Amino acid sequence: MFAVTILGNNSAVPAFNRHPTSQVVTIDGHNYLVDCGEGTQIQLINYKIRRSKISHIFISHLHGDHYFGLIGLLNSFGLLSHQQELHVFGPSPLKEIIELQLKVADTKLCYDLHIHHITEAATLVDNEKLRVKCFRTNHRIECYGFSFEQKKQPRKLNIEKAKEFEIPANFYDRLKSGEDYTKKDGSIIKNELVTETAEPGKKICVLCRYKV
Ligand SMILES: [Zn+2]
Repeated sequence: MFAVTILGNNSAVPAFNRHPTSQVVTIDGHNYLVDCGEGTQIQLINYKIRRSKISHIFISHLHGDHYFGLIGLLNSFGLLSHQQELHVFGPSPLKEIIELQLKVADTKLCYDLHIHHITEAATLVDNEKLRVKCFRTNHRIECYGFSFEQKKQPRKLNIEKAKEFEIPANFYDRLKSGEDYTKKDGSIIKNELVTETAEPGKKICVLCRYKV
């Protein structure tokens, strides 16, 4: 699954039935939050987006309408006994701001929070399924956009065909990665006979309206 949910797209001044900036990019069951304006938590609830599936948060810049909801969300993760570690990316001095807010409230989080400062175009996340990059955009203060690029998808397995050729189930993952199967008698089952080409990975960029 590859989807984007706009939680809010309003600017700093409150307006009826609109919300400050925040988007959720959902890829293969994981939620990636981009910006976290006021009210983001309520919008996550309204859209039934599971907070427990958020492992990365990306803050484009430090105007309040893009991150004033962040400390509340981080605090709620603690109250909800969030277990997995959380990575937050944003311009400096986001780390100092969040740490001060936690310190004055004597808040001890029950999960590992990693705040990474971004200072230039860079690759922020790179795993077997996804690559996230940031790039500078033109704004009054330091500001970044983010690209989410789904990596090559595994081939689609036709299980009926695989069973027909008596290929053991523990070889299915290797079929999905494109391997042929060699039977005990030395005959080869070509991969194309039991799999189909996967859809190409998708890519989306999320950024403020200011020109790159
Ligand atoms: Zn701004």
